[in-house]
Amino acid sequence: METFQRPTNAQWQAIIHNDSSADSHFFYAVQTTKIVCKPSCSSRTPLRKNVFIFENLSEAEKAGFHACKRCQPGGHVVSNAEWVTLSQCYLQINYQKQLTLEDIANEMHVGKTYFEHVFRVETGSSVMQYLNRIRLSHGKQLLRESTMKIKPIALRSGFKSANYFSRAFKKYFEMTPSEYRKSKMKIRDEIV
Ligand SMILES: [Zn+2]
Repeated sequence: METFQRPTNAQWQAIIHNDSSADSHFFYAVQTTKIVCKPSCSSRTPLRKNVFIFENLSEAEKAGFHACKRCQPGGHVVSNAEWVTLSQCYLQINYQKQLTLEDIANEMHVGKTYFEHVFRVETGSSVMQYLNRIRLSHGKQLLRESTMKIKPIALRSGFKSANYFSRAFKKYFEMTPSEYRKSKMKIRDEIV
């Protein structure tokens, strides 16, 4: 992986204190969310170890980072579609973490009510429903392709417990995880 510049102490201070006088000097990008901001952005301060510094925005964009919806470092509005896609990528990578709507909205640099609204308009589903679907599809794959027990599958897929996983699974697929696994094994046996 390409290595990017890390913040100096002065740059890091400017980021922590949302110092607008630093805006004309650099942009900061966050590795975990792929968002690039102006130093003055009022979003939650990221972990320093995840921060890269860019002298201009196009370099950051070339490196795969996207303009923040809140501080709009490019000076133009970031489209809802682009931003929702970014949040979906974030969820596809971070589904194993215990995330609340507020955590995700913070990572996406907006308030949770606004985030939920925009996400629903763009995708037709709520943020947590979307996250649940990602978790279920990972859980389903593990049931099919591994011999792991239900509980570790649940935890690895991002569910708080086996019980929570089973309930969500049944609601969505209309069978329990064990029933699903059995049905898959049966099909395999019949093929053999
Ligand atoms: Zn920002």
